[in-house]
Parts: sequence; structure tokens; C-alpha cells
Amino acid sequence: MFDQVEAFHRPSSIPEALRLLRSAGRGGRFVAGATDVAVQADRSIRVLIDVTQLGLNYIRRKGQGWAIGAATTMAALENSRAIQSLADGILAKAAATCGSVQNRNMATVGGNLANASPAADTVPPLLALDAVAVLAAARGRRRIPLTEFFVGPNKTVANGALITEIEVPAPPRGERTGLSFQKLGRLEPDISLVSVAAGLQIDRQGRCRWARIALGAVGPTPLRARRAESLLAGQQLNNSLLDRACDEVAREVRPITDIRASAEHRREMSRVLARRALVECVERAG
Ligand SMILES: Cc1cc2nc3c(=O)[nH]c(=O)nc-3n(C[C@H](O)[C@H](O)[C@H](O)COP(=O)(O)OP(=O)(O)OC[C@H]3O[C@@H](n4cnc5c(N)ncnc54)[C@H](O)[C@@H]3O)c2cc1C
Repeated sequence: MFDQVEAFHRPSSIPEALRLLRSAGRGGRFVAGATDVAVQADRSIRVLIDVTQLGLNYIRRKGQGWAIGAATTMAALENSRAIQSLADGILAKAAATCGSVQNRNMATVGGNLANASPAADTVPPLLALDAVAVLAAARGRRRIPLTEFFVGPNKTVANGALITEIEVPAPPRGERTGLSFQKLGRLEPDISLVSVAAGLQIDRQGRCRWARIALGAVGPTPLRARRAESLLAGQQLNNSLLDRACDEVAREVRPITDIRASAEHRREMSRVLARRALVECVERAG
């Protein structure tokens, strides 16, 4: 599958990785765990630049939130105590569903973002948590909110830049906050047919103070269901409001029919999974 590849580099610094990519031109490609690169077997690749030895494998505190190095594997995310306790564990849970254990030992969160599959499982939790991608390029560093990062299937604004880090702000503080991740695949470790990450903060009067609903595999990019979020924000939470919000989710998604599922099935499952996620958020919020 890599018979056209002429060189494999393993740089030990970010400037060196960027320089190697620049000098490789159109045939150059970053590679981390290679779980997407190997499957895609793109015969235009001539030079592979391994990004796993750049010191980007870490999970550490940044302000009130967390910074996750782009080369952190799914296995490291799912097994990290910090990520398990962040935001009711939604990111750890999503990482734990990214294929088999062998896949998760290799697959990185930076690769999951850069590959930009609409079904990338870490993206809905990261969108629900207002995460930001940190990019390094010859021109310098940029911080891009994930809501602006994806521009189409397998397309991002990164444009040859290296993802170095994902910043994950702390979710809103307060006792009555709950988050949830739900995934529907043929089996759980299979690629998502639909995935949903949701979060709610509820005040003492039972009103919703903060709402997030993010979905994967139901549009050209992972997406936030902003109209459904606005329906919830500031309102008294009850079953009928949750139903209306989930109806709105089903209207907001833009699924396609492919070999895995029909658009109609994905739309209906978006409603069902959003309902499950929101109910779990309410239960966790207490
Ligand atoms: C059997 C199997 C099952 C899978 N199941 C799932 C699943 O359930 N859910 C899911 O979401 N995914 C799944 N995947 C897809 C894949 O494992 C993930 O997308 C993974 O996170 C990709 O990470 P990687 O490190 O292997 O990326 P690579 O394959 O190394 O790279 C992918 C892309 O990202 C670019 N890239 C990598 N790192 C960086 C960086 N730091 N900066 C800029 N560009 C970069 C590469 O150039 C390439 O274009 C599965 C894959 C396989 C083979």
C-alpha cells in the first residue's frame, strides 16, 4: 500500500516536521498512528513525516481546562483518569469506541481531527466542550475553535499545518451539570452511524442555563445542533421541551444514504440518540 513512498522521516521537533513537509511538496503527508493513512492507501504520497516523536503525547492541565497533545492515542485518552473524570467522561467514552483495542493503541486524536471524517468519534464530545485546535505552520501558531475547523468531508482549514494540541476548556461549573455521549454503530467499536454528545446545566428553578448538542455522521462535517440548543437555553426543562428539542435536532441534521444506513434511519436515530443523551444529562445533573 506504500509502494510509492520514497522516504519516511521521524523528526524530533515541530520546526523540522514543518520543514520536511514543506520540502516534500504535494507528495508529503504527516502520519501519526497510520490507521487512516494505511487504509486510504493514497498512491500520491511520496514522503511520510511521522509526528509521534514531537513531544505531542500528553494530557495536562491548562488553566481551568485541559490540553491534549495531538499525538495522544485513543487508548491513552480512554485510560486517563483526568479524561475519565472530565465532563462525565464523554471524551474518554468516545475514544474507547474508536475501533478495536489494536486500533486505539495506534490511532491519535490529532489524526482523528485532521482526517475530518464526518463520523470521527472524538469530535462531537470536543465540539460539545467548545474545544480549540492549536495549529503550527511556517507562519506561526493559530488557535481555531473546532466549530470552524471542519469545512467538508475530509476537509479542514488546517491546510498543511500541524495540529499540535487540542485545548479543552472546563465545562460550566456547578453541581447541576450533566454530559453524555451516545453512539450507534453496527457494533459499538464500528464506525458511527450516528453519534451524539450533549451537555446541560440546570439552575435551582429547573431552568436550562447551558445546552450543547453535537452530532457526528449526520452531515458533511460533525455539527452542533444550534437551533435545538437555543430552544433549551433559558427554558424550564420538562419532557415536552426535550421532545421539541429532539424534533429540532432531526430537522437540523443533514444525513446521507450510504452502504451503512439510509438518510431516514440516520435522521430518526439522531432524534433517538439526542433524547437518550439529554435524559442522561438531566439524570447526571441530579
Ligand atoms: C479498523 C478501524 C476502525 C476504526 N474505527 C473508528 C471509529 O470507530 N471511530 C473513529 O472515529 N475512527 C475510527 N477509525 C479511524 C481512525 O482510527 C481514526 O480516525 C484515528 O484517530 C486516526 O488517527 P491516526 O493517528 O491513525 O491518523 P493517521 O492515519 O496517521 O492520519 C490521518 C490523517 O491525519 C493527518 N494527521 C495526523 N496527525 C496529524 C497532526 N498532528 N496534524 C496534522 N495532520 C495530521 C494525516 O496526514 C492524515 O491525513 C478506524 C480505523 C480503522 C482502521
